[in-house]
Amino acid sequence: MLSNGALKVGVATPETLAGGPPSVDITYPLKTAKSAICFALPLDKEKIRAFLKKKLPNGRIEHEIDNIETNIKAFMLAKEGARILKNKGFAAVQVFPNFKYREEVPGWELRMYPELALRYLAVRSGVGSFGWSGNVGLKGHGCTIILGALVTSAKLEPTKPIPEKETFCNKCKLCTTVCAMRMFDDKETESIMLGGKTFSYSKRRNIGRCQIVCGGLLGLDKTKKWSTWSPGRFPYPETDKDVMRLFSLCVNNASKWPKNPEEPKGIDLTHHENDPEFKNVKIGNKSALELIKDIKLTCGNCQLICFGDPEETKKNHELLIKFGCVIQKEDGKIMILPPDEAEIQFNQMNPKHKKLYYRELKRS
Ligand code: SF4
Ligand code: SF4
Repeated sequence: MLSNGALKVGVATPETLAGGPPSVDITYPLKTAKSAICFALPLDKEKIRAFLKKKLPNGRIEHEIDNIETNIKAFMLAKEGARILKNKGFAAVQVFPNFKYREEVPGWELRMYPELALRYLAVRSGVGSFGWSGNVGLKGHGCTIILGALVTSAKLEPTKPIPEKETFCNKCKLCTTVCAMRMFDDKETESIMLGGKTFSYSKRRNIGRCQIVCGGLLGLDKTKKWSTWSPGRFPYPETDKDVMRLFSLCVNNASKWPKNPEEPKGIDLTHHENDPEFKNVKIGNKSALELIKDIKLTCGNCQLICFGDPEETKKNHELLIKFGCVIQKEDGKIMILPPDEAEIQFNQMNPKHKKLYYRELKRS
């Protein structure tokens, strides 16, 4: 794996994961599993910078393609690892790195419990460590990595977590301010115990906050000074009840947004269409390929901001804010403007169009 571009590889076992949540049960994808092999692949930092700067026309799409391709590479590497182990007489199964949830759990679409929580496997096996945001990262890369894994019946030697003093995270907490919905607490932490070791990261608020922004339904930050790539400008929700109200308001309206006629072409997946193992991965009633084609990345800021170098992370934060806000015109075209100008242009839009991006929250 290391020769195929992995930054780090580690091994977790049922013993080192003991005491964790159901999403670390490595026998879920493979009943006879005795070990999980986990690894990290790097994302392209240059493309991340263009994404954070909201650089038109290709800043969004080029990072999206890199992100999807890196996830696919993680799946293919895991599949290759599983093939080698099977040739040696062991059972082995690759884990789909993202978007695959435990569909037997009632309300799985909202709860989003993964088949296996790769971030827990990664921190326990020393592939990375937690940053304040709860994203996993590595020195020199920060959180700009994608995790992959496979599980096997082979009994492998577990690897050790990264010692606290070697973490990439300096607790700058810029990751908390680049979340438009303030998903992460900037003071309190929560912890998880895995195989007798405790791992901590910031306390998270209602996951609906991330689903709204990361789902592309809303982009304007709480401060109204910058946005993600989403043109949604709905009001900031203070309470969990407001998050739920906001969710239905955004879903209803965002579905009516016009298509951007200037949107560059997304990822080409034709070369994966004949790969049965890839094609047959189902998520809900869609194949993974169909789902990937529908992906539109507009956020990911909490992960992407963190380059694992305080100066570089600070620069990312400055760029995100400096380049202002996205608005979408009546003809569907996207504009990136400084916040005051975006507000003026938005207010000059046809009222019917404006209502698709901003409405007051009705409180009972
Ligand atoms: S931005 Fe990175 S280094 Fe700063 S607190 Fe967040 S995870 Fe840690
Ligand atoms: S992906 Fe975006 S919306 Fe979701 S928690 Fe991170 S910064 Fe917030």
